[in-house]
Amino acid sequence: MNDHRNAPVAPADTDLPHDAPDRCGSPGTSTAPGVPGAASDAAPDEEAGDVRRFWGRLGLPGLVDVHTHFMPERVLHKVWDYFDAQGPLTARLEWPIAYRKDEAERTALLREFGVRAFTAMLYPHKPGMAPWLNAWAADFARRTPDCLHTATLYPEPGVETYVREAVEAGARVFKAHVQVGAYDPADELLHRAWGVLAEAGVPVVIHCGSGPAPGAYTGPGPIERVMARHPRLRLIIAHLGMPEYEEFLRLAERYGEVRLDTTMAFTDFTEGFMPFPRRALPRLAELGDRFLLGSDFPNLPYPYVHQLHALERLDLGTDWLRAVCHDNAALLFEL
Ligand SMILES: [Zn+2]
Repeated sequence: MNDHRNAPVAPADTDLPHDAPDRCGSPGTSTAPGVPGAASDAAPDEEAGDVRRFWGRLGLPGLVDVHTHFMPERVLHKVWDYFDAQGPLTARLEWPIAYRKDEAERTALLREFGVRAFTAMLYPHKPGMAPWLNAWAADFARRTPDCLHTATLYPEPGVETYVREAVEAGARVFKAHVQVGAYDPADELLHRAWGVLAEAGVPVVIHCGSGPAPGAYTGPGPIERVMARHPRLRLIIAHLGMPEYEEFLRLAERYGEVRLDTTMAFTDFTEGFMPFPRRALPRLAELGDRFLLGSDFPNLPYPYVHQLHALERLDLGTDWLRAVCHDNAALLFEL
């Protein structure tokens, strides 16, 4: 069987999201503050050893990373070009992509790290693109059993239908990108699609914080309106909601199905421009069952293990780390 040969082809009019990276950069600086040695400094084996020792020390069977990017190669290359060009959505921050490798090398590396399950975060920046991305992601999940089948959506006619179809086809997680998509998540066009996802209990990783640069609809307000109508919706706030960390923690305190991913939070890179407020640390401990490890692999500007060490140095204890790096996601996705 050569399922992967059936991967859909981009419609001719689908220009790629060269204006649409997904990342967190920083306003106001042009170099990465305090970035540890570039990933390329370490041999892959050595780096994998560091990652494996991290979860081994915790007595875990591996990691679950809910925020990794896989998408059609052409689209990913456009995203990388955007990072290289230091465009406005990246706050014009210097952003050396640590894992600029082909798809097979990237999946192999995650396996060497001992990432038991990961995702294929992909997202449209205009109408008509989501069904094509969803078809690609379904095929990717078929040929990549350790990738949780991922899908995406956009406010457009027909969204409820293709979201329902993706769920019926086995999608286990969705990605929504409010900054790049430049849409209001509380848009009436999305109302029924959120309803489908809430009813099915399928989590949605949503980039809705105003980092690295704000969008017209980023920030907690629009998300609060979505949650008011869909209180059981399983939103996973990407990047811990940076820089509106505390407002999004409040959302998680209010709604039992709201979670947050750790992507880029607490790293030297992010602390340099959007630091997590120390006064909110006790809330991290209290909400320990609501955080999920995310990394932004392969688009992160430092070695993968730095994200893990950034969580460890919060000093919230091994139980907290075990939950965040593995157990919370294992429970959520029934791994
Ligand atoms: Zn991302």
